[in-house]
Amino acid sequence: MDQQSAFENAMNQLASAAAKLRIKNSELRSKVERLKQPERIIQVSIPVKMDDGSTKIFDGYRVQYSSALGPYKGGIRFHQNVSLDEVKALSFWMSVKCGVAGLPMGGGKGGVIVDPKSLSKKELEGLSRGYVKALWRDLGPYVDVPAPDVNTNGQIMAWMGDEYKKQITNNPSTSLRAGKSNSKFKKLTRGEVSATFTGKPISRGGSKGRVEATARGGLYILQALLQKFKIQKSNIKNQGQNSKFKTIAVQGMGNVGGIFARSAQERGFIVVAISDSKGGVYNPEGLDVKMAEIWKQEKGSISDFPGPGRQLSITNDQLLELPVDILVPAALENVINEDNALKIKAKIILELANGPTTSGADKILHQRKITVVPDFLANSGGVTVSYFEWFQNLHNAHWTEKQVNLKLKEYMEKAFAKVWKSHINSHVDLRTAAYLVALTRILKAMK
Ligand code: NAD
Repeated sequence: MDQQSAFENAMNQLASAAAKLRIKNSELRSKVERLKQPERIIQVSIPVKMDDGSTKIFDGYRVQYSSALGPYKGGIRFHQNVSLDEVKALSFWMSVKCGVAGLPMGGGKGGVIVDPKSLSKKELEGLSRGYVKALWRDLGPYVDVPAPDVNTNGQIMAWMGDEYKKQITNNPSTSLRAGKSNSKFKKLTRGEVSATFTGKPISRGGSKGRVEATARGGLYILQALLQKFKIQKSNIKNQGQNSKFKTIAVQGMGNVGGIFARSAQERGFIVVAISDSKGGVYNPEGLDVKMAEIWKQEKGSISDFPGPGRQLSITNDQLLELPVDILVPAALENVINEDNALKIKAKIILELANGPTTSGADKILHQRKITVVPDFLANSGGVTVSYFEWFQNLHNAHWTEKQVNLKLKEYMEKAFAKVWKSHINSHVDLRTAAYLVALTRILKAMK
């Protein structure tokens, strides 16, 4: 496999996209130089009172990469493999994701080195609150707006939001950076406090449609792509039935992959393979995704989900190499790499996971004329609805799920149209085209 750190991979992508921009102007060149490092890196140590009475110290990060387009925006990851390099890369990718999605948000990301499965609920709450105690001065609705990421969820955002409110209330004179820059020592309103974290439970100010947003956004992008391929002959609802690109394999039946597989099937696509961390199943005639999900809930894994006819148990590696039209990696990074890029048979790869394709594999796929829809476009529905949540909190608004979905569709279609135009006009692959769209916006906004 290609040995490259995540941040090196990100910077290689930036370099090749910047080269395509053919920048002659020295001011723009120095702006690109600026984008090679984050604006701020904050490293904290977080003491947590453990259930046995001892205190354990955890290392945490918040990287505030670019604020050119607006407040930093990005999730907080709890994982044993978190590293500063990874958080930097993810915060850079958040910057371009917000750029391509047309959001008034910059890029940031956070992480704590911890295996959350080893913590009790009380310890997890202590860690979540500890992260905010260490960082609250650098967060705020107009400064930095975190969200959930791997191993963090609505409950953790609710604990974090509550801790933020406590700190702001107890330290009113130090809430300077939390307010708009022209409103010194402004007391934050309830809505502004709520808007500091997104991905909250609906009962705590979360947005309708947030849980489904990443998968739904991915489907809107896929539909827009198929329209461009002039495949669609009738209405969107039955797109799968009318498309030459019918069969789909989804790696990772989690929040994103599970909802995507179910929604794709509802629209007439044939989902022939699905998997989770233990393995998957393949049926060339199509699987019953809903039944498979019920099976997983009851039995714990999808890999032994029984089915009629020619249904087979497969490994995650085998899933990637199946003869399908559309491959959807929705689990981990680097699963499509130089070891398997030549064996991929799909015609379209829709990257719903972050960073599923290494840069070495990307080149091979491009040469093989496989269309890769890049992660920061394909999965930007999640941050888009997070932005809607922030907006609703600030304006004390409560959109219906229908309103959220309509707006999400609008944003996704607009983003895709810009990327497609850049792809055609600049004769570059979709990843580079998405970079060109995002960089053009970010560079223009940089002071
Ligand atoms: P999740 O934890 O809900 O689901 C992950 C799924 O991947 C699970 O089904 C798990 O069993 C499976 N998995 C784990 N290890 C695997 C392996 N080795 N092989 C195959 N499958 C494996 O996570 P999620 O929220 O669905 O996120 C999935 C991906 O999408 C991640 O890369 C995440 O960064 C990205 N993403 C998520 C969102 C979001 O809104 N949740 C937004 C943007 C990007």
